[in-house]
Amino acid sequence: MSAKVRRLVHSAKLLKSYLFVSLFSVFLFSCAGIKETKFQYPVQKKPVVLTTFTVLADMARNVAGNRLTVNSITKIGSEIHGYQPTPSDLVRASKADLIVENGLGLELWARKFTAAAGDVPKVTLTEGMTPLFIEGEAYDGKPNPHAWMSPKRSMRYIDRLVSAFTKLDPEGKEIFIRNGENYKNKLEKLDLDLRKSLATIPPRKRVLVTCEGAFSYLAKDYGMDEAYLWPVNAESQVTPRRMLRLIQTVQKRGVPAVFCESTVSSKAQREVAKASGAHFGGTFYVDSLSDTDGPAATLLDLQRHNVRLIRKGLTLDMEKNNGPY
Ligand SMILES: [Zn+2]
Repeated sequence: MSAKVRRLVHSAKLLKSYLFVSLFSVFLFSCAGIKETKFQYPVQKKPVVLTTFTVLADMARNVAGNRLTVNSITKIGSEIHGYQPTPSDLVRASKADLIVENGLGLELWARKFTAAAGDVPKVTLTEGMTPLFIEGEAYDGKPNPHAWMSPKRSMRYIDRLVSAFTKLDPEGKEIFIRNGENYKNKLEKLDLDLRKSLATIPPRKRVLVTCEGAFSYLAKDYGMDEAYLWPVNAESQVTPRRMLRLIQTVQKRGVPAVFCESTVSSKAQREVAKASGAHFGGTFYVDSLSDTDGPAATLLDLQRHNVRLIRKGLTLDMEKNNGPY
């Protein structure tokens, strides 16, 4: 075979290989195309609900079931009163299908956030509710926003969620109503349990001492007095006057234990305990849930955890502490 013929044969072989590879690629791509078309399921995007904090997200998930995607803007452990929305929060707000907020002046920061959301519908869960008011100092006369701390009032939150979700997703109406009823039954049971548990504390000892005045609704529902270092976390400065006043209250009432909440520092309250001779009774959850493996992964757990601590702390010097908590 001459060199010329060999070159020609070689070129022909190359061409053949090239054609084979090309055709094989076309075949593969075609297959991939067919495969993709064949197995591509229609993606059903669930409407996205954004809540301002984790406690509301838990309530919303209980009503939404699998029909809606529920997320919280603030993360677990965040201080929610003075939160500053990030640019990505604002983007998330603008893409949401519904924004859920507490109201009663809790999320003043959320104005920025809802303004960014433009036409996104918004529901305020405490709308139409008669609030309790903060007493004393700079926040005097302003509504106390922590209404979710009362199981009775939480039921109103659930009703508002059911109607807002029904507007958002009318086909889910029956599911939302059923989920709402189931959850309200749980709140009803919680209310009875808390009542029974707190009733075991002698009346003179029913003083709830916390960092933030976040327990007004709970205290009112179950016949307790409350005392705190500051009225709301938005204004959480610890002054010597505030500390002295609280120490005097603890001593005067003979309160065995004082408490603080998970989203703020307990340093000042531990000093109150030391100076007054009370125990530091532990950490409450109010403005945020705990991690899923913590003691307050849901609102129901949060309430049971707090009441367990209250009962344990305020009956420290009682002999036996049997009961549901
Ligand atoms: Zn708070």
